[in-house]
Amino acid sequence: MTDFAKTRAMFDLPEGVIYLNGNSLGPMPKAAPDAMNEFLMDEWRTELIRGWNTKDWFMQTNTLGDRVGKLIGAPAGTTVVSDTLSIKVFQAVAAGIALVPDRKVILSDNGNFPTDLYMVEGLMKLKDAGYSLQIPDPEDVLDAITEEVAVVMITEVDYRTSRKHDMKAIVEKAHAKGAVVVWDLAHSIGAVPVDVAGTDVDFAVGCTYKYVNAGPGAPAFIYVAKRLLDVVEPALSGWYGHEAPFAFDTSFRPMPGKIDRMRIGTPSIAAFSLLKAALDVWDEVDMDDLRAKSIELSELMIAEVEKRCEGVSFAGPRDPHTRGSHVAFRFEHSYPLMQALIANGVIGDYREPDIMRFGITPLFINVDDIHKAVDTMERILTDEVWKQPEFQHRSRVT
Ligand SMILES: *Cc1c(COP(=O)(O)O)cnc(C)c1O
Repeated sequence: MTDFAKTRAMFDLPEGVIYLNGNSLGPMPKAAPDAMNEFLMDEWRTELIRGWNTKDWFMQTNTLGDRVGKLIGAPAGTTVVSDTLSIKVFQAVAAGIALVPDRKVILSDNGNFPTDLYMVEGLMKLKDAGYSLQIPDPEDVLDAITEEVAVVMITEVDYRTSRKHDMKAIVEKAHAKGAVVVWDLAHSIGAVPVDVAGTDVDFAVGCTYKYVNAGPGAPAFIYVAKRLLDVVEPALSGWYGHEAPFAFDTSFRPMPGKIDRMRIGTPSIAAFSLLKAALDVWDEVDMDDLRAKSIELSELMIAEVEKRCEGVSFAGPRDPHTRGSHVAFRFEHSYPLMQALIANGVIGDYREPDIMRFGITPLFINVDDIHKAVDTMERILTDEVWKQPEFQHRSRVT
């Protein structure tokens, strides 16, 4: 049984804050400052350029990729970390359409995180080959998978409502119709159990700054099924993906049969040191325990809010097994209410048009936190604190 009191003690949370935003930016692990300092003083400062060999910087895309892969059921040698998630989406979809060259439809849904759709738009424009992007309602995705579809690109957990797609059903239907599947696991990794290999997913991508807690701008990852490693075409053909990077050939040859071919260029080794510190916490965690605890805490929060917070309504699916690990609520004045909550030590976030999101992260959130958070919301509503003028102003980042 995972000891969640122990994992909670592995984070450095500010006094007086209940942090319900680990779904958007995970908090700092206590080991992070030492890990960063060790990188600075014992690696960069001391080793200088030798660090690429002596500290194995060059292969951390893969060694850390394997550790990230463990959280999504990916076998060793199928996941690399680097770059940003937007870039990984582009990479995966570009590789996917190249596998099905006679089809011109990319299917997603209108609940997807916009950057995923934007990246596909950019890719289609660049290709200039008659591609189209279809975005039905999330409920209609399964029916929309036809023999016209080249790539199904879906984010498993909806960033607004927490609605969770049925990964197995979508992969099975897509494969039956001859389409390739790209999963965006931004809100899944570290949130819900995922088994990319067992579900026979073709490509998966995601980031490590949300539930994995590796810090703002932490590296993204890409997973490619073993069976595709020899055929997948890297559209972003950088020297890190070359068969022999240090041969400095004038022409690109992808690394044969290895996930290395999805590498692009020099990653941030400083950021990798924080990822390492974050992954050490996960060594203590069983994903099934985490899921059970996340459901228990989510159900508690929904029940308490509905009982005590008038005007606030639950905005996600009722069945906890069809949700991810955040809960969403609607309120006519969600933005100022969230600002008032934050000013009173309960940090969640707001998403257009009227959604308040709360990340339920058992690594550092417990039953007591949920009760206290709802107490605060109830008080802010009863005393109409959210009406104060300072809570009406919109910041650049909402
Ligand atoms: C958070 C998130 C992103 C963010 O992409 P970045 O390139 O890291 O800014 C993209 N897609 C989804 C589905 C996300 O949830």
